[in-house]
Amino acid sequence: MKKILTFSCLIILVISGFSQQNSLVSTEVDPSYFITHTRQELIQKLVDLPCGIKPDDPIEIILQKIETFLVAFQPDREYSDDVYAKAANLQALKSVKQGGYGIGSVLIDKEGKIIAAAYNTQIQKNRSDLHAEMTLMTKFEETHKAKKYMNMYVYKPGLTVFSSAEPCPMCFIRISTAGCNTKYCTPGPEDGMVTRINCLPASWKEMASKQKVEIGDCSPIMQKLSHLLFYSYLLDNRGPH
Ligand SMILES: [Zn+2]
Repeated sequence: MKKILTFSCLIILVISGFSQQNSLVSTEVDPSYFITHTRQELIQKLVDLPCGIKPDDPIEIILQKIETFLVAFQPDREYSDDVYAKAANLQALKSVKQGGYGIGSVLIDKEGKIIAAAYNTQIQKNRSDLHAEMTLMTKFEETHKAKKYMNMYVYKPGLTVFSSAEPCPMCFIRISTAGCNTKYCTPGPEDGMVTRINCLPASWKEMASKQKVEIGDCSPIMQKLSHLLFYSYLLDNRGPH
């Protein structure tokens, strides 16, 4: 009997561990879509979007077509986080149009209202730390209204950083340290830290685990756009060499 009980507990642990991992990566899009290494692969995926992009469109036209599509996009009610995905993608697009990296983030209060938004400005400002999430939090913390949402440098419970792409190690730690939940639109199979939470040192892992960390409930088209905006640097090979 004891053996059966132990075995049952083990099965439950394995299943719950799997479902936790699964909630961090699950998507209707084939996971292989979220890996893009070449400009050619990127162009093909852009052409496949319902934005009317042609293989030989210049970058400005590609971005214009994405913008027209995104602005007109009606968040799908079937996906509870699509409204945040659209907002984060619009931020990401702003950066790409400025010659920066295509990642955007929004800060959501516990009622679900967007209270701040920002995008990556590493290239624009020659600053190594200005990832979208870092910019979002720094800008927000320096505002007057932040006092309402914070105790010292820790955010009051219930706030969420929603990012267009899975946060990197630096950003994920910053979000966790601030006591904020983490959500994201596109998974980062090659660089995301959220799905690698188990690799953190014990005390950092414990701190990060206190908050909700999960992939957003987003439509396939928003996930694809987040991914392609992230990899848009391949269009002109922007960034340091
Ligand atoms: Zn980052």
